[in-house]
Amino acid sequence: MNDEARLDAAIARVVNSGNCSGCGACALLDPGLKMEIDAQGFARPIRRDPLQEAVRESSVVNEFRDACPGVGVRAQRPVGSQRHPLLGPVVAVWEAWATDPEIRFAGSSGGTLTALSAWLVETGQASRVVGARANPANARQSVSVRILNRNDAVAAAGSRYAPVSNAAEPTALEPTTAFVGKPCEVSALRALSSSRLGSEEGPILLSFFCAGTPSQYATNRLAASLGVPEDEHIEALRYRGNGWPGAFTIVRSDGSSVATSYDDSWGTHLGPATQWRCKICPDGVGESSDITAADFWRADERGYPAFSDQAGISALIARTARGRDLILRAAAEGVLTLAPMDIDSLAAVQPLQRQRRETLSGRLTGTVVAGGRIPTFRGFGLVRLALPRLRAVYRTAKGAFRRRRAMGRTRLR
Ligand SMILES: Cc1cc2nc3c(=O)[nH]c(=O)nc-3n(C[C@H](O)[C@H](O)[C@H](O)COP(=O)(O)OP(=O)(O)OC[C@H]3O[C@@H](n4cnc5c(N)ncnc54)[C@H](O)[C@@H]3O)c2cc1C
Ligand code: SF4
Repeated sequence: MNDEARLDAAIARVVNSGNCSGCGACALLDPGLKMEIDAQGFARPIRRDPLQEAVRESSVVNEFRDACPGVGVRAQRPVGSQRHPLLGPVVAVWEAWATDPEIRFAGSSGGTLTALSAWLVETGQASRVVGARANPANARQSVSVRILNRNDAVAAAGSRYAPVSNAAEPTALEPTTAFVGKPCEVSALRALSSSRLGSEEGPILLSFFCAGTPSQYATNRLAASLGVPEDEHIEALRYRGNGWPGAFTIVRSDGSSVATSYDDSWGTHLGPATQWRCKICPDGVGESSDITAADFWRADERGYPAFSDQAGISALIARTARGRDLILRAAAEGVLTLAPMDIDSLAAVQPLQRQRRETLSGRLTGTVVAGGRIPTFRGFGLVRLALPRLRAVYRTAKGAFRRRRAMGRTRLR
């Protein structure tokens, strides 16, 4: 079997087992692969051109196995960090928001990733930031983008709850790049940059907490349910932001808009449409980054996030010393405003992240017993987390078993 056939077979094993996250790292390794939306509405690699000779010499199959989050993920242990059992390595943590009120307003929570992106490129610390934004040709879709200045950063502000493969962006691994992406994209790039460039030399990696990637068709259906049919041209589509958490909003060609709350859009339409790989993710908290941002919701009396509109606040976790130094310099230069924060109060307002990790070993076991294949997850302490809550883990295992059986081998989300 030649390299191209071996790589394609390894990718097919990941995709067919439902373990592809759509990160795009394989398409970065082999430009003959393109990320395209499949019949279920998720980004998947498709071969469009042969493997190039130059790629063939770089042991592409080994690199794929090391980086693909559908094959496995290793928890990193950066120098100087302390490991939180639910939230991963922590060098330092703050409540944070963009000092610039326009950026804070535009951002998903505190606008921190947008503020850092604008600052990194405007000061020449990065030659570009890779991020995601609405497709200018069709705002229902999301595309990767190279952020080169503040305007580009503001245009890419806000969460896109839909497939987009930032790790496929051709400049993602260049040492002068800063990269914003989902935890799976960032873990793939961390693995590649550590082996190619060394741990200190690779791109600056920024991530965010991630509950999972919903199908593109969930966005299209939500738009239709608001009275905007799929063939109507629209000017803009935002999932949230412009206030916190901000509404799912579509701006039509005549300037009018339709909207629904974050609670409704995520809770009823988008959240239930996430792909299978995200349901078995050990790392929704961006452990492999230099800096990870999260929503820092205020909690109601049951400890659940309160989704009422207010000025946005992010939690910012420095995972590495490099990330901590960047945050402190951004604050010293007036880019970010920081306030002290206790890491346990962040875990308290992230019930999905908490529960998914605590019971994940049940979900993984149920999948295997139902005949499914799972990626290898190392260093996340999943068994230790499961032991004090075996009843809940057992329930999760039964649920995963039933679901996996019902999905069969061909219709995996
Ligand atoms: C799919 C998804 C799931 C999420 N799940 C959670 C969760 O469980 N808990 C939680 O606290 N927060 C979640 N978030 C929100 C995320 O934590 C916030 O974006 C984070 O708080 C950063 O806020 P910010 O205001 O600093 O970011 P912003 O300043 O708004 O910057 C957001 C950055 O993320 C990039 N981006 C947006 N969407 C995507 C995407 N789909 N793929 C790659 N890059 C993207 C943008 O280009 C931009 O650079 C999720 C976001 C997404 C996209
Ligand atoms: S998880 Fe990422 S690297 Fe692995 S096959 Fe899917 S897109 Fe490619």
